[in-house]
Amino acid sequence: MAVLTKVKPTAETLFHIQWDWFRRNHVDTEVLLREQLCAECRQALDEGKLMGEVDWIDPDTGEVFRMDAVREAILSHCRWKPEYISATTPLITAVFRTLLANNNCPLSAHELAQRLTRWDPETILTVLSRGDVKWGITPTNGE
Ligand SMILES: [Zn+2]
Repeated sequence: MAVLTKVKPTAETLFHIQWDWFRRNHVDTEVLLREQLCAECRQALDEGKLMGEVDWIDPDTGEVFRMDAVREAILSHCRWKPEYISATTPLITAVFRTLLANNNCPLSAHELAQRLTRWDPETILTVLSRGDVKWGITPTNGE
């Protein structure tokens, strides 16, 4: 039997959203993603306007991603709204939304703290690594 060594995460450890975690924990990602939408997009979703899959072009790399319309709305619209991450957004929600806005490209606590200036890297790292996995946010090397 293989010995599982769990490396203690540091401020440079990269974290991402592990979508599989939601499936295993029976959390409906559609409901969760809906909650991250701005009021306008939430209404569009309820009216059946955010359906199916669309192309999203990464403005930085020009890479084209095929994704569902809800994720595309978050990337191209909601994340630019001031309320996407506001002064009252809880840390874990803010980290989740930052990763979503980053198309789930892994970020370290250090990088997260540069984007979420309300918290220092140590605080973010402590919340992410203490106790149970929250919102599927796990180290990229920790699977
Ligand atoms: Zn929106």
